[in-house]
Amino acid sequence: MDYVGFFLGSVAFLGLITDKIVNRIGKPARKFPSCLTCGSNMITVGLPKFMPGEVVNHLDKYGLPTNTASRFICPRGHYQLWFVPRFGNTERSFFLREQL
Ligand SMILES: [Zn+2]
Repeated sequence: MDYVGFFLGSVAFLGLITDKIVNRIGKPARKFPSCLTCGSNMITVGLPKFMPGEVVNHLDKYGLPTNTASRFICPRGHYQLWFVPRFGNTERSFFLREQL
């Protein structure tokens, strides 16, 4: 019971963060996001062999294939952004910002 509460709390918390990031970036599904640090348009890069646990968990949870995830990187190397678009069977799109 405690575990379930903790889990739901974490999901709600992550949801808040995700919404915040999505609002700041705009509509990343249609155009490339820009770096919040320098404002450069981020570029897409290929997926590495090992992806962060958060991304893997999201794909697992919704049964999505690995190639639905995209990775964007700041051309000046500030950070990278993971993005999984919202599909019919997912609650929301997924974002993960990672410092490089
Ligand atoms: Zn940057």
